[in-house]
Amino acid sequence: MFAALITGKGSLEMVEFPEPTPAANGVVVDVSYCGVCGTDVHAYQSGQPYNPAICGHEWVGHVSAVGADVKGLRDGDRVVVAIAPACGRCAPCRAGQSDRCTVSFLSALGRESGAPPHGGFAPRIAVAASRVVKAHSALSDEQAAQVEPTTVSFHAVRRSGVRLGDVAVVQGAGPIGLGTMQWVRAAGAGVVIVVEPNERRRSLARELGAHHVVEPGSPADELVKELTHGLGADIVYECVGRPFAVQSAVDLARRGGSMCL
Ligand SMILES: [Zn+2]
Ligand SMILES: [Zn+2]
Repeated sequence: MFAALITGKGSLEMVEFPEPTPAANGVVVDVSYCGVCGTDVHAYQSGQPYNPAICGHEWVGHVSAVGADVKGLRDGDRVVVAIAPACGRCAPCRAGQSDRCTVSFLSALGRESGAPPHGGFAPRIAVAASRVVKAHSALSDEQAAQVEPTTVSFHAVRRSGVRLGDVAVVQGAGPIGLGTMQWVRAAGAGVVIVVEPNERRRSLARELGAHHVVEPGSPADELVKELTHGLGADIVYECVGRPFAVQSAVDLARRGGSMCL
């Protein structure tokens, strides 16, 4: 079986692997769809070392083999990739900080014990059963493959403390920014402004429900000032992921406002 791996700057190779088999506590999933994350693109463009297990980590598929000790999953179940739940045994878990579980964290990096030698850019993948959750039947395969990045923005907006009626700015209209914008609207923000340099992404943001869409720099500064009587936004979500954007997020927030990185 071949899987695509990013092996260096501008280098994507089809690498041969043995057919995956499930560990006793694992499953094999036939991958239907796999999204391309900004992390994949960054690794391809930069050539920085990239863990093969996360080369393709936004996938959905059907369980095709189940380990002997696995309960609750069967052949044919449609599942999406997930972060392993807190283990309950590592030092952070035992200190009551299960949200900082070492095992969960390593699984997000694809470095947990038993991590697969390739990611989801493959016809099949073997993972621990704890790394998958059943996909909601209302979602198409294409939508279900986006559960992983969508949960990133969902979690961020839930933690951000956005309040009814807030003026919210979302910087960046890539997949994470567009997801964030939709959750912020659903969470009750009064005005949602998307700041994005790319025209195609701006029009997508508009289509998906942003109240205002604007280019970064002085157009964004002026619009936010105008909409807030010069105060600045109540909350700014930084979804660009580059250092310069952190400063502009601070600049767009009002005194006493919040910023979500
Ligand atoms: Zn990702
Ligand atoms: Zn733990």
